[in-house]
Amino acid sequence: MDRVATVDTVKGLREAVASWRGAGERVALVPTMGALHVGHLSLVERARALADRVVVSIFVNPTQFAPNEDFSKYPRTLDDDRAKLAGLAELAYTPLVEEMYPPGFATTVSLAGPAAAGLEDAFRPTHFAGVATVVAKLLLQALPDVAVFGEKDYQQLKVIARMARDLDLTAEIIGAPTVREADGLALSSRNRYLSDEERALAPTLHRTLQDGAARLRAGEDAGAVVTAGEDALAAAGFAVDYLALRDAETLAPVSDLAAPARLLVAARLGATRLIDNIAV
Ligand code: AMP
Repeated sequence: MDRVATVDTVKGLREAVASWRGAGERVALVPTMGALHVGHLSLVERARALADRVVVSIFVNPTQFAPNEDFSKYPRTLDDDRAKLAGLAELAYTPLVEEMYPPGFATTVSLAGPAAAGLEDAFRPTHFAGVATVVAKLLLQALPDVAVFGEKDYQQLKVIARMARDLDLTAEIIGAPTVREADGLALSSRNRYLSDEERALAPTLHRTLQDGAARLRAGEDAGAVVTAGEDALAAAGFAVDYLALRDAETLAPVSDLAAPARLLVAARLGATRLIDNIAV
């Protein structure tokens, strides 16, 4: 089976990208942690439409996992990933942890402002510093014209867009829509952790968001909608971390639809934590 060409050093990545840019070609980067599914591949297709050359990074970034999270058991399927990217991307960038964080590494992006406040940050307080630092490094290593991120991780997308503006990173940050299973469950590398029973319950997350968005659009009070949604999720067996209405751009808390808003949720089914969001 064909495999996408792969480099695992910053030097190899820079040489490939420099030769393309030298030829006047536009380069897109799609950062991932691998275990690629159709959602990831939709980002690659979006990148294809925006650039001449597409680089997909595959790096399970230890610094965005808390000690109690699933870093060591996070799925690693590099050979499959390389086969899936054959013909879709020009290059996979697969650095080892030591390439990304050489001995003595001591610098971290620190985030301020509403995009990084609350929601995921309330439950994973070291997560976004890890994400922002590794994405800043990837953007500086690859120097792409454009980088594509999924709306599936909506807060992450907004944190990264803010960071890129604030640090004058030159890549244009593009968000792409969430790819779902037929029953509405957002594709995620973590869905494979769900038992059959949990998998059957999981689509309730998306249905709750759809129902909440419909009620909000019909003029129902945001507090009442959130309470009803939390109750519906709890009744289906979820432990809810948050269900919240936020400004779609800044992610500041809002209680009405005066500006475009986003309804975001994180909830646990057994040991698996699922997140999703919907435009309102
Ligand atoms: P991950 O490998 O989970 O870090 O995700 C890599 C990128 O793929 C991120 O920008 C995610 O938002 C995006 N992504 C993950 N799941 C989906 C999905 N179901 N639809 C679209 N994009 C996704």
